[in-house]
Amino acid sequence: VTFKDLGVVDPLCEACEHMKWTKPSQIQRESIPLALQGKDIIGLAETGSGKTGAFALPILQNLLEHPQRLFALVLTPTRELAFQISEQFEALGARIGVKCVVVVGGIDMMSQALALAKKPHIIIATPGRLVDHLENTKGFHLKSLKYLVMDEADRILNMDFEVEVDKILRVIPQERRTYMFSATMTKKVQKLQRASLKDPVKVEV
Ligand code: AMP
Repeated sequence: VTFKDLGVVDPLCEACEHMKWTKPSQIQRESIPLALQGKDIIGLAETGSGKTGAFALPILQNLLEHPQRLFALVLTPTRELAFQISEQFEALGARIGVKCVVVVGGIDMMSQALALAKKPHIIIATPGRLVDHLENTKGFHLKSLKYLVMDEADRILNMDFEVEVDKILRVIPQERRTYMFSATMTKKVQKLQRASLKDPVKVEV
């Protein structure tokens, strides 16, 4: 099976080749066709499975078809993960001009506010810092968002980001696609799934 067989368009297949992703990983084989059909997805997969590509490729493909700023938000538990996800989005999206901004703690609010004012296509954020911007950065909102990804949802919830995630869910459009990835299916993850995904398909690797 190739990325093209899964329905991935040529410019993104070329980006995969460029990254030496010669064939899709299992989570990518299972998720990408469903995501391209417009399904919400709950993915049970760990870091190292290629889950970032599994959500980034469908998002980038939809962005190519419907170009728009502030298109997708990826929530992730840690700064390190946020930068890793951003690197993959930028590598996959390099030739189609995708702009990403990482919004995490430990970097000054002002420079992040300036980066957000330029309206990137993709925001990769930890929940606490994103809420800080939603509440304190003038003019910043996510009312046009088309995609929400919750990466490592079990860790996000274990780090007590529940209140922040709820706040974010309240200010983004209901009409959107949502992908949730988690290594484990805990009670809290199930509760968040019910609150945020519509008729999701479960993918397990
Ligand atoms: P992830 O699980 O998304 O954190 O990805 C783990 C690593 O696998 C990253 O370094 C990716 O660049 C790499 N990777 C993702 N998909 C593929 C693939 N289809 N073939 C080879 N490497 C991949």
